[in-house]
Amino acid sequence: MTHQFSDCARCPFSISERLCRNPNGKAPDFCPTRDLSQLTEASLKVYKKDEYAEFARQASIQEAEGYADRELGYARVRPAKTRIEEIAEFAQKMHYRRLGLAFCIGLRREAKTVAEIYSARGFEMVSVICKTGCSDKELIGLSGDQKIVQYEPEAMCNPVLQALVLNEAETDFNILLGLCVGHDSLFLKKAEAPCTVLAVKDRVLGHNPLAAVYNADSYYRSLK
Ligand code: SF4
Repeated sequence: MTHQFSDCARCPFSISERLCRNPNGKAPDFCPTRDLSQLTEASLKVYKKDEYAEFARQASIQEAEGYADRELGYARVRPAKTRIEEIAEFAQKMHYRRLGLAFCIGLRREAKTVAEIYSARGFEMVSVICKTGCSDKELIGLSGDQKIVQYEPEAMCNPVLQALVLNEAETDFNILLGLCVGHDSLFLKKAEAPCTVLAVKDRVLGHNPLAAVYNADSYYRSLK
């Protein structure tokens, strides 16, 4: 029988019944917990490596600390921390000193505020805008009609350069702020330090792409 790809997004069971939450739980046909146990073993070996061990431990401590009232039980826990706080706390736990901020020109005001917030927490900030380098989009093969302001000189977003600038500064940890789809992928491919995302770009929804998902059965039903 050919192996089915993992498809946890379609799992039909309640979370307490799922095999990934309960060793005696249920598994559908496409369950990676049941079918790919060799990969579970491989992943656990990764966490034993020095490079990952403390990072993974602290990330899960941070996860739990994101809830208040844990002593009252799972049904009564409350969200306790914003993501911007969580990033700062996690970086403190990891003893990171120098943070990279790779941001989009469209979020330059937000970037200024974010840099102020983290500087006030004692981090050394290295920030770099998407248009850094001022290289024209024609250099990556765009024609005049494929630019935003058509047939004019237009600086490309250069996420590879953003990564190189932060690599050169030897940042401990990088934060992405509002990079475009695909530009974020390139940045993540080339950045040497571990990265996290403060916000993703959604020009229509105020950088909250889940607003469309939350309305997928009403105003955004055409998406389906
Ligand atoms: S790991 Fe298995 S049980 Fe858990 S969500 Fe995925 S398919 Fe469902």
